[in-house]
Amino acid sequence: MPVDTDSAEGAKYKRVLLKISGEALMGDTEYGIDMPTCLKFADEIALAQQLGVEICLVIGGGNIFRGLAGAASGMERSQADSMGMMATIMNALAMQSALETIGVQTRVQSGIRMDEICEPFIRRRAIRHMEKGRIVIFAAGTGNPYFTTDTGAALRAAEMHCDAMLKGTQVDGVYSADPKTDPTATRYETLTYQEVLARNLRVMDASAVSLMRDTNIPIVVFSLHNKGALQDVLTGKGNSTVISGN
Ligand code: UDP
Repeated sequence: MPVDTDSAEGAKYKRVLLKISGEALMGDTEYGIDMPTCLKFADEIALAQQLGVEICLVIGGGNIFRGLAGAASGMERSQADSMGMMATIMNALAMQSALETIGVQTRVQSGIRMDEICEPFIRRRAIRHMEKGRIVIFAAGTGNPYFTTDTGAALRAAEMHCDAMLKGTQVDGVYSADPKTDPTATRYETLTYQEVLARNLRVMDASAVSLMRDTNIPIVVFSLHNKGALQDVLTGKGNSTVISGN
């Protein structure tokens, strides 16, 4: 169903990119793809889409394979990163299935050509899909080794002229310390790109943060675990940390 962006009532953003790590797709399992978890995220996305917001996705691959781990065990790094990128394609197809199961129209576009199973990344075509209300899932990160899907997400957010990059994590924002181990840890409401970089706060890699700074796209860090969390973040409710400004 086409998204009526004119009625993006109450939504703070018109077009957003949602980055989900591969590990988030494992749910409570140890490895791989947990379909009930994918369906839970699909429900969140469908709910958020009802606000009239255009949504694209980047999903990591860490639940299946990370290039660095492959390199550490003796593989050539670029080769290992190709495997990591293929892991992100598997995750993208799983999320596509989950979304289509609940009737949400999607397209997968990959940074590495895989013509039999998904479209190649074509920026203008991706924008058209989004205008038609389809969720576009960008697979294979940047399509290049030595990068991460965080940087891939930043790149696609910039190319798609997104109003924000939303990073769904295990906790509801960026904290002064690890809230799971330190009870005195406090959540930042806002941070600047520079603070994240200078303090080496491990939100996303520095290359992703600096690209968001250069293109002036806010990064919103929030937890995808509570029901309606994505919708809340899009309407400025719920907990999050917004990274923007100088
Ligand atoms: N990767 C890559 N280039 C990219 C994006 C990803 O080579 O532009 C590879 C890299 O090996 C990485 C793996 O894909 O380890 C999975 O991505 P990432 O670690 O970012 O996934 P996440 O931590 O978000 O699950």
